[in-house]
Amino acid sequence: MVEIKDISVNRKMSLRTALSMLDRTALGLLLLVDEDGKFERTVTDGDIRRLLLSGVQIDGVLDLLPSIQSLVVSDGTSRREALNLMNEKVINHLPVINELGQVVRILDRKEIDGQILLSTPHMGQNEKEFVEEAFRTNWIAPLGPNVDAFEKELADVVDIKFAAALSSGTAAIHLALRLLDVGQGDLVFCSTLTFAASANPIIYQGAEPVFIDSDLESWNMSAIALEKAFVWAESIGRLPKAVIVVNLYGQSADMDTLLAICNKYSVPIIEDAAESLGAKYKGKASGTFGKIGIYSFNGNKIITTSGGGMLVSNDRALVEKARFLATQARDPAPHYQHSQLGYNYRMSNILAGIGRGQLKVLQDRVESRRAIFNAYKEGLADIKSIEWMPEPSWSYSTHWLSALTLDPSQTKITGMEVVQRLASEMIEARPLWKPMHLQPLFSQYKYFSHDLKSISDQIFEMGICLPSGSNMSASNLNRVIEELRKILI
Ligand SMILES: *Cc1c(COP(=O)(O)O)cnc(C)c1O
Repeated sequence: MVEIKDISVNRKMSLRTALSMLDRTALGLLLLVDEDGKFERTVTDGDIRRLLLSGVQIDGVLDLLPSIQSLVVSDGTSRREALNLMNEKVINHLPVINELGQVVRILDRKEIDGQILLSTPHMGQNEKEFVEEAFRTNWIAPLGPNVDAFEKELADVVDIKFAAALSSGTAAIHLALRLLDVGQGDLVFCSTLTFAASANPIIYQGAEPVFIDSDLESWNMSAIALEKAFVWAESIGRLPKAVIVVNLYGQSADMDTLLAICNKYSVPIIEDAAESLGAKYKGKASGTFGKIGIYSFNGNKIITTSGGGMLVSNDRALVEKARFLATQARDPAPHYQHSQLGYNYRMSNILAGIGRGQLKVLQDRVESRRAIFNAYKEGLADIKSIEWMPEPSWSYSTHWLSALTLDPSQTKITGMEVVQRLASEMIEARPLWKPMHLQPLFSQYKYFSHDLKSISDQIFEMGICLPSGSNMSASNLNRVIEELRKILI
């Protein structure tokens, strides 16, 4: 940090003094101030060169510097505004002035030009090796040894018998519905508080989603709402073909309770563990409780293949059928013969190579994300309006995204306002998922709430998630905490 007094000059000072001051600071910039310390303009090497060329001697004074309006910003200016101004004027420094017109500090582009993103890819040491191996052996095209190994290695990590590597988590959900024979006119229950990719495949299959509320304990599917939906479905003689249970923000749903209900009605669960790879429920890997589980390796997830997904199950026949359907459902015949509708949903051998490398650092990534969540909790412990996403005793959450809600009895500020204020400081926070039953696309479908008042609506209205990337630096983490303190205190 430069001291303002070390770079302040006045019109009575000599060119020589100014030049030697410039020489001592790395900034390339002096501040011309009047007797009261009020800022007048900036002075650069070029300004002094021009004075010399116009005939002023090196021991002459700065008095002849023309009066110009230098660009300044006021103390409350956001990082985003300041950076926009620097970009527009092609400058790297901006003096910040107070009400008295005095410079209080200098904004340096290098220091402020840093966007903090929500969740970015975080590569380890081994990904390139696996990808290079694929190049060396020309296993570029779909399938190959990386795909087989990635499936096996992931299955081992989550302790399940079989896995099929696919092009996305969405493709995995779609195949799961196909495998459970979901078709035209069937009902599928689905958590409402989730990303649209959980529910869209229900529509791909011509089936009808029924959305289920969350509970406050885990933010995941409410057993009470699920039971209500089953009672209704039974009363109209249309039990669902499947229940899609979503594990939000790195946390498992209360699987034993949900399984007990589904088993009572003999309806299988598809566990959408796109966000919960690495999490545990009662000590066992999230994603392995349903008849079928799915994971995502999209770019923002806890580990990534740039894009990809996995379908897992302990049922060999299901996973083999998933692989078959994902490779265009080609019958075993010498010619191209098809008796079922297939898809091009397999993961390529290149991307599976990235996945193998990422899997090696999964536990590190989980620990980093949990540490980030704890740092937020500690750094903001005194802020009464924040309620952190709860973690029930049976849950080991990865805290894929650090999520919180604001207590409206403690603060007037809304989640959306916090997101906007952080954005102006170049920090990317997001509202929580907007529940599916509130989406225009799904507005005609049935919804069962936990209580008279919908829990997911409340969580959505007051919630946000914070930057949570496992590669976020400690100083960036502190920056987010500091900004949140300014906004919420
Ligand atoms: C990311 C995500 C998906 C979709 O995964 P993709 O690999 O992006 O297709 C599905 N469900 C949830 C809950 C997700 O967060």
